[in-house]
Amino acid sequence: MAKIFFGKIIHTKSLNEFELFTSGFVAVDQKGKIAGVGNESDYCAWLPQHADFKGAHEEHLSEDQFIMPGLVDCHIHAPQVAQIGLGLDMPLLDWLNTYTFPLEAKYTDQKFAAKVYAKVVENTIKAGTTLASYFGTNNKDSTLILAKEALRQGQRALIGKVCSNCNSPDFYVETTETSVADTEEFIAAIRKLNTDRIKPTITPRFALSCTNELMVKLGDIAQKNDLHIQSHISENLSEISSVKQMYNSSYAKAYDNAGLLTPKTVMAHAVHLEDEEISLFRERGTSVAHCPASNTMLSSGFCDVLRLIKNGVKVGLGTDVSGGNSMSIQDAILRALDVSHHLEFVKKQDIIGCGRLTTQDNEYQPLNYKQAIFLATLGGAEALTLSDVTGNFVVGKDFDALVVDTSKYPLQNYATDEATKKSQEQQLLEMVQQFIYVGDDRNIIGVYVAGKQIKKKL
Ligand SMILES: [Zn+2]
Repeated sequence: MAKIFFGKIIHTKSLNEFELFTSGFVAVDQKGKIAGVGNESDYCAWLPQHADFKGAHEEHLSEDQFIMPGLVDCHIHAPQVAQIGLGLDMPLLDWLNTYTFPLEAKYTDQKFAAKVYAKVVENTIKAGTTLASYFGTNNKDSTLILAKEALRQGQRALIGKVCSNCNSPDFYVETTETSVADTEEFIAAIRKLNTDRIKPTITPRFALSCTNELMVKLGDIAQKNDLHIQSHISENLSEISSVKQMYNSSYAKAYDNAGLLTPKTVMAHAVHLEDEEISLFRERGTSVAHCPASNTMLSSGFCDVLRLIKNGVKVGLGTDVSGGNSMSIQDAILRALDVSHHLEFVKKQDIIGCGRLTTQDNEYQPLNYKQAIFLATLGGAEALTLSDVTGNFVVGKDFDALVVDTSKYPLQNYATDEATKKSQEQQLLEMVQQFIYVGDDRNIIGVYVAGKQIKKKL
């Protein structure tokens, strides 16, 4: 049934275009697509031209609520949710060997996979993720379980069977032939699900754990089938030097030589990309998933996302569970703001004993919360090449949205005389700030994908 939402609405149109309607409407047709959006005062002129909406279900938000686009997680390892919060005092390669590889190898057990993946999807939806780009494991059958779970629970997802055929422990490594054959079978199985919401994604774990031969074959499969691609790049300095040695090229070139940098590729981290690599990303239209929580937890470094964006690279946010310790993209917004502020300190402060750094930039402006909301919504959709379908409220796109209630714990509405003197615009912006800086998933009382409610109102 067609629905019309009335109330406060926010969304972004670009990094620096934040639009709000203090008293707005969004009309959603029977297929879950947005048919109209604007100020409530324009609604009377809009309705007569849209006969389908006569008698549509009306939903009126309360004064404490607003609608915003659903959150996009550009990088999350679903199997690693089972070890979230563990081993975060280790460097990347030790963490992989001690925790991650032994855990991921357990996903040959389909019952274990089914149990974990049902919870992963449930919890990311609870946190407001309407679109996620998931890594599974090397096991194609359990990764298919993840795809079916996302479909069953109504989440939009890119899902990859992970590929790795070298520099991996004996108990968790494939041959080139198996990796390719299983990837092809996985793609065929996803296509049989017959849905646009779930897309198979070519997923070499990272250049160190794949031979050039395997990467080239995966690049061919992606090209033949016009598929999304996801992997990791330039996360940590010792990893980068190993990749340069193995491929005798820059990290980005190692992927590019295999045909893996395309407009449908999203690479996680990109903390230490060199200028030429950023140029290559721009030329190929390849995107970055900024994962501030894991970059901090695993001591990988500061990713200067504004440097990437200024140089024409699309950027979204990723939780990178379980290098990151939270499944929430709202948390990733805060982490991205933290990293950006810390980067500002480094660029503007004298570092005792080190003198001025070569990265000194006294004009550096850190990300602001509106820009971070862009990265978490439309920016993420652009990074995953799905901004024609989702990311903001534009006629023709699917209605992927959150209803946020700022009166729910931990927030309270302490209405004061001063508050009522503020303009409606200011009041709405302050609600948004409170949600971003203080709120959590308890404030997300409704989650919609293509007009269908997938988290029930509390
Ligand atoms: Zn990752």
